[in-house]
Amino acid sequence: MRGKTFIIAGPSGVGKGTITKELFARQRNLYFSVSATTRSPRPGEVDGVHYHFISREEFEQWIEQDAFLEHAEYIGNFYGTPKRFVDEAMERGEDVILDIEVQGAEQVHCKRPEAIRIFIAPPSWEELEHRLVSRGTESAEKVRSRLARAREEFAFAADYDYIVINNTLENAVEELQAIILAEHCRPDERVDLINGIS
Ligand code: 5GP
Repeated sequence: MRGKTFIIAGPSGVGKGTITKELFARQRNLYFSVSATTRSPRPGEVDGVHYHFISREEFEQWIEQDAFLEHAEYIGNFYGTPKRFVDEAMERGEDVILDIEVQGAEQVHCKRPEAIRIFIAPPSWEELEHRLVSRGTESAEKVRSRLARAREEFAFAADYDYIVINNTLENAVEELQAIILAEHCRPDERVDLINGIS
């Protein structure tokens, strides 16, 4: 059975990375799509693990070679999902997790409407601000830009297949696991089984 694609989108600072990490600690048969970015690595980020850190020129070459499933500009940097690895993982029967921003999620939705879109929301606006500031990875100006972008991203949330509120890590991961499980109980996955019985 081919794997499914789960798009985990939502504003910067909402905790997508932490939730995804915990999901991978609990569940097998998942593939994390490592994005390419022109952003510089933060302390502790490893090339090929957190991102493929590439130059602007390389990024443009990848676009020309049609190597991205989607790509988007985000606060002065470019981010993209390498298509080949996603397809290979799905062929192996693994579910693919994309941690991407909302523009990219829209592109994947247009190209592959069967991909499941999950919006991760903070419990409140104040909490999002607090998380972005306290993680200390961005300058005050970059934090402001990310918050402005977050306002725009919220406008898309109602169109998603699911909304997960990250009030606690435990709750968010549990909801995510429940969504993945439910998606594997859909008739398109079970029709052969039913035909075998009837
Ligand atoms: P950060 O710079 O904080 O790592 O990521 C900034 C934003 O870009 C986050 O919302 C993250 O989910 C998103 N992002 C990461 N990889 C990709 C990607 O491949 N494509 C798109 N469209 N967004 C991405």
